Amino acid sequence: MRINCVGGGPAGLYFAVLAKLADPAHEVTVLERNPAGVTWGWGVVFWDDLLDDLFRYDPVSARRIWDASCQWDEYRVRATGKAVTHLAGYGFSLGRKVLLDILTQRATELGVEVRHLDELTDESDLPDADLVVACDGAGSRIRERYAEHFGTDIEVGRNKYIWLGTPHVFKTFTFGFERTEAGWIWYHAYPFNAETSTFIVECAPETWTALGFDNLDARAGAARLQEIFAAHLGGQPLIDHRAEVGGTGWLNFRRLTNQRWDHGNVVLMGDAAHTTHFAIGSGTKLAIQDAMALADAVSSEDELAVALERYEHRRKAALAPLQRAAKASSEWFERVTDYVDLPAKQFSYALSDRRGEYPMWRYLLHVATQSAIPRTLLRWTLSARRWSRARRRPGASRTTQAGRPPQRYGVRPRPAKG
Ligand SMILES: Cc1cc2nc3c(=O)[nH]c(=O)nc-3n(C[C@H](O)[C@H](O)[C@H](O)COP(=O)(O)OP(=O)(O)OC[C@H]3O[C@@H](n4cnc5c(N)ncnc54)[C@H](O)[C@@H]3O)c2cc1C
Repeated sequence: MRINCVGGGPAGLYFAVLAKLADPAHEVTVLERNPAGVTWGWGVVFWDDLLDDLFRYDPVSARRIWDASCQWDEYRVRATGKAVTHLAGYGFSLGRKVLLDILTQRATELGVEVRHLDELTDESDLPDADLVVACDGAGSRIRERYAEHFGTDIEVGRNKYIWLGTPHVFKTFTFGFERTEAGWIWYHAYPFNAETSTFIVECAPETWTALGFDNLDARAGAARLQEIFAAHLGGQPLIDHRAEVGGTGWLNFRRLTNQRWDHGNVVLMGDAAHTTHFAIGSGTKLAIQDAMALADAVSSEDELAVALERYEHRRKAALAPLQRAAKASSEWFERVTDYVDLPAKQFSYALSDRRGEYPMWRYLLHVATQSAIPRTLLRWTLSARRWSRARRRPGASRTTQAGRPPQRYGVRPRPAKG
């Protein structure tokens, strides 16, 4: 089969890898408009469920992803005028660029042709292939070409957000809220390697305008945010990739859905098919899981049209609860002023239960784990569970998987800055 993936993001590259693993005779090409090694965004978070899937589908790339990831051991909540509080949980993070490098290398090793600097423009014909996978992200040109057929719906979120990076290495996943003269502004930050953290800033549109971001370019905007969050950044700058290319990275989140995902031999995958608000940090996971489901469907004996229908049904069913959670989560941040004057423990609990689903015992556990000893005991329990889950993963050897965990900045001294 000739397969053409338009878009070399996580979805397109991972699907290319799986298609080749399923049948080395497939001719698989990935078109990517960016040069090799160049991408937008910073680090992304993920959890055990994605690792389980990655090890099941391709232990080789899974091990490389695991080795390049870092781990954090709790969430911290900092807000002006309140004590720092802690939320139980752990997760992993990885630079988006490293993830793409790993997947590009794996795809190339398997014989996929990854063509960088190859953009499908509005004038281009669709690639001549048996299957064209539109994995060209939230602004998909292919989807827009047939928007009526796909039944695309886009809901624009109220808040403004910007995805920045910083050389300040946060010890763990941190939510920070600052009160300014123009209203509250906050960030979600987490380390993803020894030198860098992701730093996503969000605020209401009125706050954004009153703080002057509508009139600041990328460099001046990052400098203004640096002033606002100085107490959180240990003297380090905030970096906006846009500073080199002009414009500004501030956006409103676009929640995108499609009634249909296929049209003839064209199929939508990843952000081209659906977007999920970054407040639950799952878009990359969902894009990769789409790739897994599409690879399963295409390698079945079914005719292509039936296989694509099956893929769509499987993924829509899997996505529904997460999309509800993401919507509830993003709406919580749109109503943040309803909660931010609560005492510290109640505020951080409201933040953790922003989907409104937790039973009472979670609140009692939350209050108890604000003290160091119960928090440490809970962390050990979670570590044991994580370790035992890691050991059960197929293809995971003791040395590379369970025995040698990825970097843990949450428990290490901060690396010295040169
Ligand atoms: C602020 C923010 C934080 C996030 N944090 C997380 C997180 O922590 N965890 C997580 O799981 N997810 C996160 N996400 C979501 C995640 O980034 C996306 O869901 C994920 O990248 C989707 O992967 P994809 O392959 O479908 O699309 P993309 O990653 O967008 O890849 C699409 C690719 O197609 C290329 N392309 C586009 N048009 C063309 C064309 N015409 N011709 C050729 N190539 C083209 C693009 O250059 C790009 O490389 C975050 C998103 C945002 C906005």
